[in-house]
Amino acid sequence: MPYVITSLCTNDGACVEVCPVACIHTRPGAPQFYIDPDVCIDCEQCEIVCPVDAIFKDVDVPAEHAASIDANASFFRQNKAVVGPVAFETAWEMVDRAQAYATSIGIAVTAAVVDEAGVPIAVGRMDGAAPRTAELAVSKAYTAAAFHLATADLAAQARQPWLRSLIVAHRGRLVPAAGGLVIFDGITIIGAVGVAGGSESEQDVLCCQAAFAVLEGAH
Ligand code: SF4
Ligand code: SF4
Repeated sequence: MPYVITSLCTNDGACVEVCPVACIHTRPGAPQFYIDPDVCIDCEQCEIVCPVDAIFKDVDVPAEHAASIDANASFFRQNKAVVGPVAFETAWEMVDRAQAYATSIGIAVTAAVVDEAGVPIAVGRMDGAAPRTAELAVSKAYTAAAFHLATADLAAQARQPWLRSLIVAHRGRLVPAAGGLVIFDGITIIGAVGVAGGSESEQDVLCCQAAFAVLEGAH
């Protein structure tokens, strides 16, 4: 049951900052912000911060704002590009680039690229990388894809009850630790990259960032 933004919205953007899955968007000239019902995880953080009480759970939307339910869904139908996941060749190049960076700083890692649902496309474990890094890298990428944001941003919220509940529900596959980054095409998620094996989590992040050079070269 996703949340819905009604026409009471005054466009101040306050809710965007608190959404843990980055599913609140608008576009230039639009009268309000909108929530993607396919992504919203029902955490109610946006409702709490909205200064004008413009946000409701879909089942609680007042009758006079009922049209907002479809208005939110329709915004994303119109503005989300229909694109496929990261191509296989691109995914391998990203893994390769992340590992090349790891080599340059003297560490051995596993790098993984997953699709928008968190399913692996390419996973590469370097010689010398610990076996557990394989699962960890995939889990970091899965987490970034599931939450639509960098896993480092989740680390600070790891103790929040809503996140702990989700971690249990996902049977440990959610890893709120740095080293997972989302791959966007516009506002559409097309996958995520995860890296594990650095002695410091910052090294995993740098390897992820190195992988993105492949996408920059493609544009
Ligand atoms: S309920 Fe939570 S996940 Fe849904 S839009 Fe609001 S902040 Fe985002
Ligand atoms: S916090 Fe409320 S008023 Fe501000 S952008 Fe979000 S829905 Fe609109």
